[in-house]
Amino acid sequence: MSSDARVLPTLNADGTRVRVRPRVVRGRFFDRRRIVAYGLLVAFLALPWIHINGRPAMMMDLGTREFALFGAIFRPTDTLSLLFFGLSLAFGIVLITTLWGRLWCGWACPQTVWLEWVFRPIERLIEGNPSQQRAIDAQPGISGRRLLKHAIFVGLAFVVANTFLMYFVGTERITHWVTQSPSNHPVGFGVVVVVTGLMFFDFAYFREQTCTFACPYGRMQSVMLDRQSLIVAYDPKRGEPRGKPAKKSLPVIEDKRGDCVDCGACVQVCPTGIDIRKGLQMECIGCAQCVDACDGVMTKLERPIGLIRYTSGAELAGEPRKLFRARTMIYPALFAVAFTGLMVTLGARQNADAWLERTSNPYEMLSDGEVSSPVQLRVENRTDGPRVYTLTYQDAAGVKPMGLQPTYKLAAHQARQIAFVVLSPRGSFSEGKRHAALHVADDDGWSVTLPVLVLGPQHDDHDDHERGHDGAHEGEHR
Ligand code: SF4
Ligand code: SF4
Repeated sequence: MSSDARVLPTLNADGTRVRVRPRVVRGRFFDRRRIVAYGLLVAFLALPWIHINGRPAMMMDLGTREFALFGAIFRPTDTLSLLFFGLSLAFGIVLITTLWGRLWCGWACPQTVWLEWVFRPIERLIEGNPSQQRAIDAQPGISGRRLLKHAIFVGLAFVVANTFLMYFVGTERITHWVTQSPSNHPVGFGVVVVVTGLMFFDFAYFREQTCTFACPYGRMQSVMLDRQSLIVAYDPKRGEPRGKPAKKSLPVIEDKRGDCVDCGACVQVCPTGIDIRKGLQMECIGCAQCVDACDGVMTKLERPIGLIRYTSGAELAGEPRKLFRARTMIYPALFAVAFTGLMVTLGARQNADAWLERTSNPYEMLSDGEVSSPVQLRVENRTDGPRVYTLTYQDAAGVKPMGLQPTYKLAAHQARQIAFVVLSPRGSFSEGKRHAALHVADDDGWSVTLPVLVLGPQHDDHDDHERGHDGAHEGEHR
């Protein structure tokens, strides 16, 4: 079966994998991508170690469920900020994709950056050029060069995996996991082993299949692109009919051939194994390797570059480029609304937060006739320094809060649950409830008064040992 009859360019007719062994061609986009890639690699490796306001520059802490982003801290209770952050991210991605297509995939995605600028260069260094790599593929068993390559890949996968995990559990824990005996932290050791294995599988074997099959962003982009989006495309009007260039020594009567000399260079360099001359395909990550390859060929033939270029579907069809269209106006507007919401909610955040939590039993009748009502408070210090919180419980005469200290000290960014009980005379309730208040103030001017709804028995019944339903306490922030 011919290659044209394949379902996918990386799949043989019998279902076996076609391994992509791209050639490297230097060019204007190669040089620019390399600068971007090295910058991103440094950022990826360094960010977990950089601290701003005592927090990593970027970390999604799975333990505390906090998200640190360049000094801003998002907590699960920052519902509105998180919502606006998520919306800003989503609209930003949609907008960037609409304007610049898969530029992210080809230039900045960690998968592409690590594969094309770290793993493949090492592969070429050890196994040689694509033909030499294919010769090793065809050898029975496993060659010494391939063993060496895989050993280095395992080490690299270990580095990538640990750095990746640092974004979720922090540098200290990873350092502990890596430097201590696995028996001290079997779960952590297991996580590192599994993630290292996944990274090795991805970069040594699965490679471009991740972009084609596994990445949801890659799949979603087909619906985000329109005829005006930036894509890498071959210009068939200029290139066809393709054919080998006429020999200069022969007299040419009328050469109707297009500029494509069918050299195959654009296919040989493609990291996803496609032939861009067949039109836009889902595998294309917009890396522009084929642009550099074709520009090199055109330059040698003294023809204009740009037979394959960054363009749009509309431009290729001879239509004018339209920057302003419904999508490029609606998406920025939505992004602006979400981003403004994020800034406003971040700006409105206070130095602390305090709220009452539900308790399983709103009250309990004691043998001495008093009513015991549990109160559960959570106080969160959102500042970068320690704070002392003063708690004042205000209720009817004769009511005694038990287990409540007057002050609590919380470290920077610490959240603490404070539980105490309120002992009330049975007769202090009206229709089974009583309104009280809890005043919380820090030593830096922040304060809030939380209304407390204390539930008690409906009737003055001494045998009433009923436990009420949820919702004994309600809290509001002032
Ligand atoms: S590199 Fe350019 S000239 Fe060569 S096959 Fe591709 S499009 Fe044609
Ligand atoms: S077709 Fe060109 S731009 Fe697309 S993935 Fe292949 S080399 Fe990169």
